[in-house]
Amino acid sequence: MLNIVLFGPPGAGKGTQAVRIKDHYSLVHLSTGDIFRHNIKNSTELGVMAKSYMDKGELVPDEVTIKMLESEVLKHPNSSGFIFDGFPRTTTQAQTLDDFLHSKNISITKMIALDVPDEELIARLLLRGKDSGRPDDQNREVIANRIKVYEAQTSILADYYRLQNKLVCVDGIGSVDEITDRLYVAIDN
Ligand code: ADP
Repeated sequence: MLNIVLFGPPGAGKGTQAVRIKDHYSLVHLSTGDIFRHNIKNSTELGVMAKSYMDKGELVPDEVTIKMLESEVLKHPNSSGFIFDGFPRTTTQAQTLDDFLHSKNISITKMIALDVPDEELIARLLLRGKDSGRPDDQNREVIANRIKVYEAQTSILADYYRLQNKLVCVDGIGSVDEITDRLYVAIDN
């Protein structure tokens, strides 16, 4: 089984690349951001709750996020692997994911971190905000807060996976195809 955590700040290109990796390796793609947005669109209880955090650029509480992610994993008992996109984002999420996968006799194979400087992230997110209509991409303050939250709570997870010898860093600047090729190399080696 191949289980990849695709990691990097907001705007690093995780979503774009995750879809390609999913197809190439026949994985199940689990994007917590996409699942929350789907729930918001359908006005579910979870969606209404998640929206109140997402609109401010804050993280949805761990308890809810973890429960949702675990139930998504359980929907795919015969999959040949997962690509986690936007999860884990806190140390608690990473530890709980390890314990949960361990209980199913599986584990994370690698964390692949996309490296992109802050100035580039802000430019990409504002551009995406124009095209996608995502409200959290249309406001500079919300974007700045997401990057701040990433630096305060999420970036430390690189150390968590480095200590397990699972971290691989990939340059996230270049064309989409170039970055995909780098990711395949990172996964295959
Ligand atoms: P991006 O990585 O571009 O910020 P995402 O689509 O991954 O976009 O996430 C959008 C928002 O969804 C986040 O700012 C956060 O509010 C919420 N979210 C996504 N994943 C998680 C998570 N693992 N834990 C808590 N909140 C999350």
